Amino acid sequence: MLPEVEQYFRIEKLPHMWCPGCGNGIVLHSLINAISGLGLDQDKTTIVSGIGCASRAAGYLDFDTLHTTHGRALAFATGIKFSKPELNTFVLMGDGDCTAIGGNHLIHAARRNINLTALVFNNNIYGMTGGQYSPMTPNAKRATTAFYGNIDRSFDLMELAKGAGATYVARATTYHTELLTKLIMEAHKNKGFSLVEVVTACPTAYGRYNKLGKPADMLKAQKENAVNIKSLKDGIVPEGKFLIGELYRAEAPEYIDQYLQAATKLREKGGK
Ligand code: SF4
Ligand code: MG
Repeated sequence: MLPEVEQYFRIEKLPHMWCPGCGNGIVLHSLINAISGLGLDQDKTTIVSGIGCASRAAGYLDFDTLHTTHGRALAFATGIKFSKPELNTFVLMGDGDCTAIGGNHLIHAARRNINLTALVFNNNIYGMTGGQYSPMTPNAKRATTAFYGNIDRSFDLMELAKGAGATYVARATTYHTELLTKLIMEAHKNKGFSLVEVVTACPTAYGRYNKLGKPADMLKAQKENAVNIKSLKDGIVPEGKFLIGELYRAEAPEYIDQYLQAATKLREKGGK
C-alpha cells in the first residue's frame, strides 16, 4: 500500500472482503485522495455507513467510524451532526441501502440540507445479499429477483436528490477517478447536503446476470457511456448514455445552523 494512503487504513482489518474486480476499492481510494487533498484532520472526520458490500468500507478506514443498520446511515449521521456539527462527516451507502429502505432518510436529509457528504456506490444491485434488484436496477435488466428482466422503472438518483432539496449533486464513475476525487472535495466544501453518485461495477452479481463481461469490460462501458456535462452541447443526453460531473448546485440555509440559532434565541428569551 502506498505510504500516503496507508495512514488512513486500519491495516489489521485487511485484506478486504470484496470480490476481485469490484469497484468499491476504487471509490475508497478516491475518497481517501479527497480527504487527503482537503487536508482534513483524521481525528475530526467521521465515516458512517449502512449495510451492504459498500458499507464495509467504514470498517477498513482509520477514522471514527460507524457501521450502522440497513438504510439508516443518514439517520445516524444526522445525530452526529447535531451533537458535533464541527465534524467532517462522510456517509457511504450502496444503491439498495440508500434508495430503498433508506430512501426516506435520504429525501429528508436532502430536504433539511444537513451538512453531510453522502456517497452512493451505485452498482445497480444488492451485491452482498445475493443479487436482488434495487431501485437503481435499470428496467429490463436481470437480477436474482428479476430473472426475466426487471419490470420496475429505476430512480434517477440525481433528479431525486435535487428535487428533495440537496444543494450539491454530482456523479462520476470508477473509470473517472480524478473527476470523482474532485467532486468529493467540492461536495465536502458545500455547506449543506451533498450527494455524489458513483457508478461502479459489481461483476459478481450484476455483471454476471446481465452478461456484461469481465471487470475490465464493465469499466470500459463506464468510459464509453458517461458524458461529461461540460461537453454536452444541446442539453440532450444521447440514448443509453448518462451524465457525469457537477450536475446541480444551490444555496440554502443549513439545518443544524438554523436549529442552533433557534435554540440560542430561545435560551436568551427564557434566560436559561
Ligand atoms: Fe463487489 Fe459485487 Fe462482490 Fe459485493 S458482490 S464485493 S459489490 S463484486
Ligand atoms: Mg448495490
